[in-house]
Amino acid sequence: MKTPTFDLTGKVALVTGGSKGIGYAMAEALGLYGAKVVISSRGKEEGELAAQKLNEQNINACYIQCDVMKKAQIESLVEQIVNEYGSLDILINNAGMNIRKQLIDIDESDWDTVLGVNLKGVFLVGQTVAKQMIKQKYGRIINVSSILGSIAMPMQTCYAASKGGINQMTKIWADELAVYNITVNAIGPAYIKTPMTEEWLADPKRHRNILQSKMIKRMGEVTDLIGPVVFLASDTSAFVTGQILNIDGGWTAK
Ligand code: NAP
Repeated sequence: MKTPTFDLTGKVALVTGGSKGIGYAMAEALGLYGAKVVISSRGKEEGELAAQKLNEQNINACYIQCDVMKKAQIESLVEQIVNEYGSLDILINNAGMNIRKQLIDIDESDWDTVLGVNLKGVFLVGQTVAKQMIKQKYGRIINVSSILGSIAMPMQTCYAASKGGINQMTKIWADELAVYNITVNAIGPAYIKTPMTEEWLADPKRHRNILQSKMIKRMGEVTDLIGPVVFLASDTSAFVTGQILNIDGGWTAK
């Protein structure tokens, strides 16, 4: 029997929002499994430092600045990757942000910002990368959603709307792109301590409530995402597409 491998040697990966938090950890994981990794974000200095930190671990990584709200910058990013490496095999469509407010306090600009980065940004990056993957007849797209794509929580109107949208786009892209040997899946983490959530998770009452919601009574770590992401990025998941894999200590199953 020929066994499929988790090894990513020879694969080229793009991680949007790869300068810190979940994106950085995913870039590191893919790199340690052998992929060449391009990380992108808006903050150039932080991004370049992150790429340098990856290089120090012997990971073949580089940084390219790109705002996922700007279509021309995304097109240029993908063009640069293909010119440099010859292909783009794995996309971690990760860049995202949050503005937490009660429904009645949300400004129109809050909605536009969150939906702009989290939903339109993921759409624009996914569309541009898919065009390249179709040419290659190979690809692995992993959209970074959240448990808030499928469950409710106060103060998350904009964020949950964007993540619910990502879940639906994931299924539709999976259906459209299967014929090109491209799989499309999403991961839905529960709270993981990163720069985005650090302050929010500092409230002890909130911390306790989060633990109570889970079957596995601990906070998630970025390392909890490595196995699922490497699986979805590798050839071991060739028959898995259109799935939302919640990585949440059992929260959404309760
Ligand atoms: P983070 O630490 O704040 O990192 C966000 C990353 O996205 C940074 O690299 C940031 O860099 C980049 N980014 C933000 N806006 C961007 C834009 N317009 N264009 C390009 N890059 C942009 O957040 P995180 O917690 O790692 O979250 C990463 C993803 O995981 C998000 O999609 C988030 O919704 C999702 N998620 C997080 C959690 C959690 O508990 N942390 C749970 C579920 C899902 P710049 O600001 O320099 O651009």
